[in-house]
Amino acid sequence: MIAETADSEDIKRAFGIDKKTWEDWRWQIKNRITTLEELEKILNLTERDKEEIGESLKTLKMSITPYYLSLIDQSRYNDPIRLQSIPSLLELEKTPYEVEDPLKEDSYSPIPGLIHRYPDRALLLVTDSCPTLCRHCTRRRLTEKIERKSTHLDLNGAVEYISSHREIRDIIISGGDPLILSDQMLERIISSIRKIKSVEIIRIGTRAPVTLPQRITPELCEMLKRYHPIWINTHFNHPKEITEESSRACEMLADTGIPLGNQSVLLKGINDDPDIMKNLVQGLLKIRVRPYYLYQCDMVEGLSHFRTTVEKGVEIIEALQGFTSGLAVPTFVIDAPGMGKIPISPQYVVGREGNQIILRNFEGRISAYTNPG
Ligand SMILES: *Cc1c(COP(=O)(O)O)cnc(C)c1O
Ligand code: SF4
Repeated sequence: MIAETADSEDIKRAFGIDKKTWEDWRWQIKNRITTLEELEKILNLTERDKEEIGESLKTLKMSITPYYLSLIDQSRYNDPIRLQSIPSLLELEKTPYEVEDPLKEDSYSPIPGLIHRYPDRALLLVTDSCPTLCRHCTRRRLTEKIERKSTHLDLNGAVEYISSHREIRDIIISGGDPLILSDQMLERIISSIRKIKSVEIIRIGTRAPVTLPQRITPELCEMLKRYHPIWINTHFNHPKEITEESSRACEMLADTGIPLGNQSVLLKGINDDPDIMKNLVQGLLKIRVRPYYLYQCDMVEGLSHFRTTVEKGVEIIEALQGFTSGLAVPTFVIDAPGMGKIPISPQYVVGREGNQIILRNFEGRISAYTNPG
């Protein structure tokens, strides 16, 4: 797909609306691109692209906010925004290792929409919609299939379950993307959780700062502020996603007193490169977002074209550790089927001799450390 000229300003202009409307998150949601007809009006597509997208959309869903679409550089076939948002036939391929629900979330769900996998925290799936559907979504069984399963959170049931499991001290509000809900709906959920005495912190997992930064409004921030401690984890995958708009969204949330973390997915051809990743994590610190996890792409059906080797993830962490701010280095994790998140780190302990531990530093120098005791 090689366009003669179009850049993001052209894409923006193609929608033919004023700045104020563009900045209205409801307009962005209402005008999401979900069909090939809509897409070809905005992007220059080759006949082959059209065929491929049309074929994919027979079984998969597409949804892209005008804002996220406007970040696509049409002169690059492998544009990272394009790869994350426009469906490809590769998603219909299944390898023998892949399954629909590798994290076995469905079997850790005592109440519809509540996943209790770890001892002291639980996850709520409050919606299965998202502003932009990411092609690499781990929960695509819920978000992306046309014949998808649906989760309907039983809020009363969840509140009752959490109240009677006093070991749960951390609630993660996730989905889909919780910020696709109205402030009123969100507040209903958050306030019900906040009333439970044993819940210490509430986290929200949302990609809205990246795909719909307009969603971060002063009203939303005012509401969230009433329910502290609130933490937010977002999902930037590429430095191109750090724009004026997404920076402002993160700044507003940080100014609300919400600590921000980032969970990236390691994606082949998008961010599986130490330089790209370094730009990303350093850029995130500048907008007050702390890189939290880097995920090995889950064994979800249809994602084999995005998956890289585990060694690639380790290589990236190794290229960051010691070479840039420790704050910028995420933990690389594999959410191994049925096992939960397992951290994978480069090896810095290279041997042991008696009470001597042989260590390697980030520059590759070797030294012995005498283990006390
Ligand atoms: C990732 C995850 C959590 C949170 O894990 P942390 O390591 O605490 O961030 C909780 N529940 C489920 C089901 C998860 O997948
Ligand atoms: S925003 Fe999250 S839940 Fe929604 S499609 Fe993207 S990865 Fe999946």
